[in-house]
Amino acid sequence: MSGWETKKAERNRQSLARLNRALPRIFPSAVVSWALNRPFVPPTPRLAIDSYWRAHPIRADRLARALANRSGAPRGWTWQLGDSHNHGLPATYRTPPAPYREHAYRQGPGSCCVCGQPVYRFGWHVDLWDTGANMNASWHCACVIAWQFWNAPSGYARILRRLQARRCGQSGGRLWKSAEVDHRVPLFRVWSELRQTRWPGLLDYWGLPNLQVINRDVHVTKCAIEARDRRAAHLLEAELN
Ligand SMILES: [Zn+2]
Repeated sequence: MSGWETKKAERNRQSLARLNRALPRIFPSAVVSWALNRPFVPPTPRLAIDSYWRAHPIRADRLARALANRSGAPRGWTWQLGDSHNHGLPATYRTPPAPYREHAYRQGPGSCCVCGQPVYRFGWHVDLWDTGANMNASWHCACVIAWQFWNAPSGYARILRRLQARRCGQSGGRLWKSAEVDHRVPLFRVWSELRQTRWPGLLDYWGLPNLQVINRDVHVTKCAIEARDRRAAHLLEAELN
């Protein structure tokens, strides 16, 4: 073994010992087996869970939307843009609507600001330990990753390409290296035409159901058509007012 390999093996031995000491009797088995198979074993249960969701953003996206479905939108809530500092409203329609992040509907510690459901030990979404809501947490570990995925899907191009079997989502041709992540229904249209969609159904426009990887040339054409439609919509609106 090279010096580096010896060091890595020693570090893993220590991490594994730490993890074993800290691991409660009950722990999600998928996370344990994920952690044990890492080139660098995460040394704490919490890091093991983080690492698990980071590697499974599609699963996190699906779970976050399912959890949000259990909560539904708070009574009286509508999707609004505005002042993020004073009201916690999103400043742009590109940010996914999240009522429980808004100051008016915040539920406080122990419940997740993305999906509105209780957060349990280690940021998990099920109370496997019967210890009740974790009052030090206001995000599920899964929802942190889902939030990143919804806000910056370009960072997940590799996974999305694989899901599409490396075929362009629009033309069906082979995906080139320069291919880009695209929202099938553009977010400006979600804001201008689909704003009344019930939350969390709205979140589907940020999640996997509305994402595709398409070749750059196809993307450029799609964006040009969308820009033309957007101009036409503005003109029509101006005429009507
Ligand atoms: Zn959540």
